Amino acid sequence: MSRADRIRGEMERLFEEAMRIHEKDPDLADRYAELAWRIKLKHRVDLPPRWKGSVCRKCHSFMVPGSSSRVRVRRGMVVTRCLRCGDTRRYVID
Ligand SMILES: [Zn+2]
Repeated sequence: MSRADRIRGEMERLFEEAMRIHEKDPDLADRYAELAWRIKLKHRVDLPPRWKGSVCRKCHSFMVPGSSSRVRVRRGMVVTRCLRCGDTRRYVID
């Protein structure tokens, strides 16, 4: 297992835990997301692909569609909005 795989495994655990507790304790979920983001910056390893859209790029809170974020599809773009800081991102659908 490579170093990047090990680090991504660590992030994976943080996101799974964040997902498990975000309804009960959204602040704790945000802390897990922020921690994963810091690991990404520190080790320069990308987030696991399935969690890529789960951290707000601005405030680093945990984004769950329908709960802490809004997701809309518009003209071939996915538009996500963080409900904590209001940051909006657009992604091209591939
Ligand atoms: Zn945000």
